[in-house]
Amino acid sequence: MAHPKSRISKQRKRKRRTHYKITAPHVVSCNNCGAPVLRHRICDACGSYRGRTIIDKTEAIVEEDVENTIDDVEVED
Ligand SMILES: [Zn+2]
Repeated sequence: MAHPKSRISKQRKRKRRTHYKITAPHVVSCNNCGAPVLRHRICDACGSYRGRTIIDKTEAIVEEDVENTIDDVEVED
């Protein structure tokens, strides 16, 4: 198995690691609604990607309304 010939000093290790830096995420605005979105990701606000609707966000809202109305009916009974 490959094995280091000699121990790397703290100084040498730390100097090498000065190049390890975190980078800011690539945030762009959605073409459809203008919300901040990570590049190459579906928009979380409207569910669109490259001008097409991938996730129908309006449908999810309708489902929530149906659940609320069912709860209301049960309370009345
Ligand atoms: Zn959007």
